[in-house]
Amino acid sequence: MGGAEKWARVSPGHLAAGIPCPMTVGELCVACGICCRGAFFRYALLSDEEVGRLHALGIPTATRRNGQKAIRLGCAALRGTACTLYEVRPRVCHAYFCQLAFRLRDGLVTPEAARQIVAETQAVLAQLEAELPPRAEGDPPSAVERAYQYGLSSGPALLRRAEALFREHYLGPGQP
Ligand code: SF4
Ligand code: SF4
Repeated sequence: MGGAEKWARVSPGHLAAGIPCPMTVGELCVACGICCRGAFFRYALLSDEEVGRLHALGIPTATRRNGQKAIRLGCAALRGTACTLYEVRPRVCHAYFCQLAFRLRDGLVTPEAARQIVAETQAVLAQLEAELPPRAEGDPPSAVERAYQYGLSSGPALLRRAEALFREHYLGPGQP
């Protein structure tokens, strides 16, 4: 997901240190995509205008029980780790920063450390997916959701490891 300032090349932290940021948050996000996979949230909320725009682009949307229109995560616009609609992604995607993205933007984590955290999380998610049965009709698109639904053949330890990574690195204060 991510905000417009993700493309800013200079972050406050790096600016204070007098050095250009060697990696933008946008660059991290297109190599990550973990939030778009539905690791933390089930839905990305949409306006009616965005629903029409996404449908025109062939991206399905959902309606929540309260009537709110949304993208059901994992998002169909994600290819690999990157959003295929990045330049025209919905407002909520544009505005969203996970804690890791904020920390990179503010120079509180190095690009190398951020990449390692993402790589570790992606590896845990890949292990988790490998333990799940093939996705059946009606299953949620998110592997994390399916892991809660079906459990994992190795037991809950891997899911707990994923949760710990989410809490430690992505879900900051005020986030679920
Ligand atoms: S539209 Fe793009 S940024 Fe938004 S959830 Fe889908 S893949 Fe992620
Ligand atoms: S989880 Fe964070 S770093 Fe990864 S794509 Fe989402 S906002 Fe970007």
